Amino acid sequence: MKRTGFAPRKTPMKRSRKPSPQAIRIEPDAFRAVVKAKTRSDHLAELQDAFNAWVRLRDAGQPCISCGRPYGDRWHAGHYRSVGSEPSLRFEPDNVHLQCPPCNLHLCGNQAPYRVNLVKKIGLERIEWLDGPHEPKKYTVAEIQEMKAFYRAEIRRMKREAA
Ligand SMILES: [Zn+2]
Repeated sequence: MKRTGFAPRKTPMKRSRKPSPQAIRIEPDAFRAVVKAKTRSDHLAELQDAFNAWVRLRDAGQPCISCGRPYGDRWHAGHYRSVGSEPSLRFEPDNVHLQCPPCNLHLCGNQAPYRVNLVKKIGLERIEWLDGPHEPKKYTVAEIQEMKAFYRAEIRRMKREAA
């Protein structure tokens, strides 16, 4: 017999069993699997958050590195060498300083005065090192996690000391 179109199955599909409480509880192994399932870019984004928060704490109370505007709320961690131009300096503390949102977002980092004020802050020698050529850096996930843990611990320590 030629079958056309939809034909009901001879044996009805078994109804799936209700999951038992044990089955739906998240086991430690499953939890670890979820943690592991984070991608490298997830870890990088988390590290960037921790690092930026650390920069904001380190520089809290200081004026904008570019325009000198007095310290404000919700300020940015602004790169001297942009992540695009020098990715290996993305997490270099000397390369990132507190910046007001207009300089960071609307003036593309307001680079010329940034450099002038950075000379005063960290000295010419360290800036010339930032300016100089850099080896490309490719962090492993383990290194990224280690750095993230370091900055998170530093943030806790600085907040404790400030309290
Ligand atoms: Zn500014």
